[in-house]
Amino acid sequence: MRAPGRLRVLALALVAAGCVGPFASPPPGGPSASGSPSAGAGASASREAADAGAPSGSDCDDAKTASPAAGGADEGGEGDHATLDDGFELPEAAAAPDESAPAPPFAELTDAEITARLRADMSALGPMSIGRAHSGVLVSGVRMPEGANWELVSPGHAWGTQETVDALARAIDAVAARFPETPRAFIGDISAKRGGHHPPHVSHQSGRDVDVSYYLTEGHRWYATANASNLDRARTWHFVRTLIAESDVDLILVDLQIQRILKAYALEVGEDPAWLDQVFQAGGKSRRPLFFHAKGHASHLHVRFYSPAAQELGRRAYRLLVSRRLIAPPTLFITHTVKSGETLSHLALRYKVTTEAIKKANLLKKDLLRVGKPYKIPQTGGIAMPARVVVPARRVPPSPSDVAGAKPSPGGEPCRRTSLR
Ligand SMILES: [Zn+2]
Repeated sequence: MRAPGRLRVLALALVAAGCVGPFASPPPGGPSASGSPSAGAGASASREAADAGAPSGSDCDDAKTASPAAGGADEGGEGDHATLDDGFELPEAAAAPDESAPAPPFAELTDAEITARLRADMSALGPMSIGRAHSGVLVSGVRMPEGANWELVSPGHAWGTQETVDALARAIDAVAARFPETPRAFIGDISAKRGGHHPPHVSHQSGRDVDVSYYLTEGHRWYATANASNLDRARTWHFVRTLIAESDVDLILVDLQIQRILKAYALEVGEDPAWLDQVFQAGGKSRRPLFFHAKGHASHLHVRFYSPAAQELGRRAYRLLVSRRLIAPPTLFITHTVKSGETLSHLALRYKVTTEAIKKANLLKKDLLRVGKPYKIPQTGGIAMPARVVVPARRVPPSPSDVAGAKPSPGGEPCRRTSLR
């Protein structure tokens, strides 16, 4: 049993942290509490999944964001390794129901069936990605396997959804298959085993963000800064093109200067100009590109995937995960047992919450508190029940795939397409 005071500190720390993600304790497979801990004496704390549908209030978007279509954005970023400005996150798209869309993953299972399967084995249905990239959690994640064509820079932080891991492996293998003697790609952080805040990153919290190296013609190593003289255009372009065409990419953070180099290369090898304008932020012609500039992304690129199955399963399993304390609910309750002399205002001040919120949580009609009685104090934190994720249609390039560096060009020299269809 936890010391009551520690729980309270933990709960308050969640609030203080602002945009905290998980409360990933106990770990999957570990001891789990089946119900809410009872209120102890004094200022003890308990956490309850009170209102899973309440607004989270935890969606603090404090990361610097780039503006879509900001073609004239500053071109900084090279050499700046101190800040990992990877928190760029677009507003969530409104979930517009589409009657013609195929059934979402796990539609064949009822909620009761999903719950029963997960109660027996939390990993039975695969990984779950819950919450957003910078405020989320990963449950039953899989680690990126070792591979002949890549090197894991930080194996302990290479946990993701199955979809993330598969998409990454497929694109890296595609580069190696297309170009002989391709050096191994370097895979940096994906997520921690259970997701959540992952310093120094802002995002990387829900198993869907990946840092990966550019391919370089010389000095190919992890975190080497790419530029016009060393970027292996053919391999890097084939990598990102495969990602876009064959997986559900949300966005790719690439320094604007490198976007320009890649876009110019893609034009030279015959890619469709209108399609390029749709996917690149460089040029500023798309309201919703896939490539975005973010500070610090000349040394590596950052891919954020959708994970339709892992995100849908996380949504369906949300209440179970909260009850198993694998994720924290959006509203946490601290239990405070009132001492002599304490008033509603005292509690409001102490816990930084309004008196009305305390009254509402305890169904109080008057402002009077009874000495010795425990009262629930609401605090925000954790993760709100996610909405169903609507994965946009893939931006599959209209040109045939063999335009993307049909011949090996390790020196970065573009292979021109001889005939246009
Ligand atoms: Zn990153």
